[in-house]
Amino acid sequence: MPPQDQQQQDRGRQVRHDMPRQPLRPQRQHGQEHRMQGWLQRWSGQSLADVRHELTSHLRTAGIGTAALDARLLVQQATGLSHACLIAEERTRRLTTDEARILIRMAVRRLQGEPVSRIIGLRAFFGRDFVISPDVLDPRPETELLVEAALKLRPHVEALHDESPLLCDAGAGSGCIIVSLLAEWPAAQGMALDISAAALAITRHNAARHGVAERLHCVRANWLAPVRGPVDLLVSNPPYLKAAEMQCLPPEVRHDPALALAAGEDGFAAYRALARKAADVLRPGGWLLLEVGAGQAEEVRRMFEQAGLRPDSLLPPILHDLAGIGRVVALRRDGR
Ligand code: GLN
Repeated sequence: MPPQDQQQQDRGRQVRHDMPRQPLRPQRQHGQEHRMQGWLQRWSGQSLADVRHELTSHLRTAGIGTAALDARLLVQQATGLSHACLIAEERTRRLTTDEARILIRMAVRRLQGEPVSRIIGLRAFFGRDFVISPDVLDPRPETELLVEAALKLRPHVEALHDESPLLCDAGAGSGCIIVSLLAEWPAAQGMALDISAAALAITRHNAARHGVAERLHCVRANWLAPVRGPVDLLVSNPPYLKAAEMQCLPPEVRHDPALALAAGEDGFAAYRALARKAADVLRPGGWLLLEVGAGQAEEVRRMFEQAGLRPDSLLPPILHDLAGIGRVVALRRDGR
């Protein structure tokens, strides 16, 4: 199955001026069909290596920066071959007509701007592949920073009491955060909350895929409403786009569900909802780790400090991502 290196396709939720997106050329319907017919004739019976090279050059011509990687992943998906098998067989193995049809349909979607992860329904995150659907946010590499920070807290969270620590992910979506945490932290129990039943079905699917379903309780919920606590570690990557940003979505997020992105007029609606209950559900000494959008960290920190949480010497209250953007707010409930 397609591998981890999709992570090279960083697509944050902000408009990233440092990373120009593919300028995708509008194709006239007729020209497109003609082109597809041509590909079908040429690719049926052609070696996988030649098809892969040709597809790479079409994607590159369309301005796609990750053309070679994308072409390989699509050829793997169309043929069902792992990366290793593709390398071993691509000179001798030929594409069948059925595989060519599948590949062409996927290539057209890619040329129209859809990310490869959406087309193949899988995204690599923190070393594991997660199934995604149109109902969940496509996991972003910067969210791995939150997972890393949470794992650093592991001994300190475990020191809070003798039982299994309870980790809670509010707005779990694909489950990439909570499932990664449970997979890395066998002693922990998890709770995944999401308002979307369709998203929770994907969370469950990914929990089963990575062997943590028995330790994950999935609950359909409007933020923290049903949580009684005490939670040892609360994590969330909530929606954080403003209404104005939702009006004109950058290409990076056009294929993500609006529910996973929209956060009211000012982009802080979800943080406000979380701040109302965060201190109540956290155990004294328990931790909160929140992903935030570019430019939101200070305000979110202030909001949760007002709600009774405090920075702690174990982690800086604001962690920065590789682009230098304040990306994770880390605070703690007093009173160990
Ligand atoms: N927790 C999921 C993720 O980080 C979903 C987040 C969301 O839908 N906003 O990818």
